[in-house]
Amino acid sequence: MDRVDCIVVGAGVVGLAIARQLAQAGREVLVLEANESFGMETSARNSEVIHAGIYYPQGSLMARLCVEGRGKLYDYAQTRGLAHRKCGKLIVATTPAEVATLAGIRARAAANGAPLEILSRAEATAMEPALACEGALWSPETGVIDSHGYMLSLKGEAEAAGAMFAFHAPVAALAVGDHGFVVTTGAAEPMTLGCAALVNAAGHGAPGLAQAMQGYDAGLAPTAYFARGNYFTLAGRAPFSRLIYPVPQPGGLGVHLTLDLGGQAKFGPDVEWIDGLDYRVDPARGEAFYAAIRRYWPALPDGALQPGYAGIRPKIAPPEAGTQDFVLQGPGRHGIAGLVHLFGVESPGLTSSLAIAEAVAAML
Ligand SMILES: Cc1cc2nc3c(=O)[nH]c(=O)nc-3n(C[C@H](O)[C@H](O)[C@H](O)COP(=O)(O)OP(=O)(O)OC[C@H]3O[C@@H](n4cnc5c(N)ncnc54)[C@H](O)[C@@H]3O)c2cc1C
Repeated sequence: MDRVDCIVVGAGVVGLAIARQLAQAGREVLVLEANESFGMETSARNSEVIHAGIYYPQGSLMARLCVEGRGKLYDYAQTRGLAHRKCGKLIVATTPAEVATLAGIRARAAANGAPLEILSRAEATAMEPALACEGALWSPETGVIDSHGYMLSLKGEAEAAGAMFAFHAPVAALAVGDHGFVVTTGAAEPMTLGCAALVNAAGHGAPGLAQAMQGYDAGLAPTAYFARGNYFTLAGRAPFSRLIYPVPQPGGLGVHLTLDLGGQAKFGPDVEWIDGLDYRVDPARGEAFYAAIRRYWPALPDGALQPGYAGIRPKIAPPEAGTQDFVLQGPGRHGIAGLVHLFGVESPGLTSSLAIAEAVAAML
């Protein structure tokens, strides 16, 4: 059986960041990815927003790793000339009752290390004249990034530090062995490999791989749930140059507007609980988008929205349980040296990726 020092399962943005971190620390790394290339699942199907860290409960991993990761990601993008833009975002209150919630949102964000400024209606509409609102919060630290370019850079730096990548290499089984771990792939030419350190960064696949892992307590692995987020794109240019979010409603951030680096606007993601990986967008869901968007952009023309794409949140609890924190499960939890499982790395996982990689490396 061939052996390597570290195996990372999954080449999404999180697996790539971890592979780079470990390789640059001098470890021998092999990344096993089921798809033909890197970043083809959740990491290619998100909003590409660099989040400031506003809503996450104080002290949660999401709050800490988002704020840490945001700083690292801006530095990373700046020093390498990667396409990104710190365009900021407005959180808009469209009723007096929503205005009353702004101070609380600002206090929570401040506790996390995410600065927000309260704006009057006049101040907000001076920034974005097409906006209809009663007041707003301004987040100067929010931005957007070319996530594919970012992943390409992570992969290149991991390879430059000696990391190896195997694509078309779906991992079929994990086991605790006599000297570390045994990893078996189910590819056309199956491989059985040994390693001293194992990181399960398989996104939607992570809970299932952990549950079936020999020598690990399956009771410590969560069940995978799937919450699709559908996007609708805007035909023509948006009259906004900043990201626009409504005040969050229970259960989600609301139908918000994000811009890509070319200025193309998309709305979403909504929340649709489904049973498995299915990225199709039901055009009928667009109807609900019009009403939600017109609360803050009354001039949205009829027929302007086209079905875009969907991403699926890798949930680890059912809808009624509410948002769960990231789970970086290391030896302190399961007692097995050299093993880290990552569960529930939904938003803000892209923003947090460099901070997650440091945290995982420290657990090994
Ligand atoms: C709709 C939506 C919007 C989002 N917007 C944002 C945002 O704006 N900003 C932000 O910070 N975050 C955002 N996120 C979160 C962010 O996209 C994720 O946290 C991040 O992409 C997770 O990366 P990952 O590497 O953990 O998972 P993935 O990208 O899913 O990668 C996992 C990889 O593992 C591979 N894999 C799975 N099973 C196996 C196996 N058995 N063997 C080998 N390989 C396997 C998969 O093929 C995949 O390539 C959003 C998420 C969603 C769903």
